[in-house]
Amino acid sequence: MSSIQLESSSIFSQLSIFGHQKVVFCKDEDTGLKAIIAIHDTTLGPAIGGTRMWPYETEAMALKDVLRLSQAMTYKAAITGLNLGGGKGVIIGDSRTDKTEALMRRYGRFIENLNGSFITAEEVGTGPKDMEYIRMETKYVTGVPESIGGSGDPSPVTAKGVFFGIKACVKELYGTDNLAGRSVAVQGTGHVGEHLVGLLRDENAKVYVSDINEERLARVAKKYGAEAVNNNNLFDLDFDIYAPCALGATINTETISRMKCGIIAGSANNQLRDEKADSQLLLEKGILYAPDYLINAGGLINAYSEIAGYSKKRTMQLAENIYEATREVLKKSKSDQIPTVLAANAIAEKRISDIRKIKSSF
Ligand code: NAD
Repeated sequence: MSSIQLESSSIFSQLSIFGHQKVVFCKDEDTGLKAIIAIHDTTLGPAIGGTRMWPYETEAMALKDVLRLSQAMTYKAAITGLNLGGGKGVIIGDSRTDKTEALMRRYGRFIENLNGSFITAEEVGTGPKDMEYIRMETKYVTGVPESIGGSGDPSPVTAKGVFFGIKACVKELYGTDNLAGRSVAVQGTGHVGEHLVGLLRDENAKVYVSDINEERLARVAKKYGAEAVNNNNLFDLDFDIYAPCALGATINTETISRMKCGIIAGSANNQLRDEKADSQLLLEKGILYAPDYLINAGGLINAYSEIAGYSKKRTMQLAENIYEATREVLKKSKSDQIPTVLAANAIAEKRISDIRKIKSSF
């Protein structure tokens, strides 16, 4: 087992562009493991981030992905008020054919060698079983099954955070956060979408649901008294809030031109196809956009709770804090006349910078 550790002051300009503290390349001949762990920032606490397993075409693409994703985790942890930094791991390989117990455990040994500066969780291409293997080699892993002391499915916590993100936007636009009579289109009725529909219906919101899985769509619509609609015609309908809970990039110039809603707030990752252009367009059109990385932080909150000692009540409370965090972002966006994503980034950066100062003053 060998690892090369590159400090951010090294020759690699990419690292300094993103401002990473450390990048570790993990290679092991016996298991075929090829992985990169990127620790972006640990000012607020240990860097947390999932490990993605993906058959990257080139090693450069894997490096680019891990640098980008780990930086995003720093912002996500910071804006949510958690004492965590940002990191990410990528394993180069096909999760269907290349994954073995030995490979995952070897990867776990690399994490152990980082002495707690990086904590991982499942991501695309990895799951609870892999986290169990990693746990056999290191305690610096979350998202292990409930049966061995983990926090289990994060989706209810994510849905709760999205729900409070929606309420914060509704308060901003209508002066009250009561959802009774408001109409919400929830796109995607999977793990998060279904829980969100339940929370919205409990507050007597009118809910439209769409999904490409017709069986699931019909079941969720019936269970919660929501109205199933055709996914392709979603933006032709009149509703107050669009909650994307399926795939990314559903917000783009084409869909924005069709949207009649006043609020976008959902769980999907990377909702804006072009972050800069689309967030500006939304600002100009007067549509309140709750930054995805802020209001879908329930999964991260769940992982944090697992490290801090799991309590369901405390976890749900932390998810409710997304309400105030969203209010702060909307306030800054309005006062500075900047897109909400930029407002969220600025708040996250300020928190990191403030804490860095107090830590360096001793
Ligand atoms: P999921 O796979 O359980 O559900 C996704 C649902 O979207 C499925 O029912 C699927 O059929 C549907 N879908 C797929 N393509 C669609 C399309 N084009 N139009 C309409 N519906 C479509 O996933 P999930 O765990 O509910 O997560 C939903 C989104 O939230 C994902 O983008 C995920 O990355 C993000 N997210 C989830 C969590 C979490 O805790 N699960 C945390 C943060 C972010």
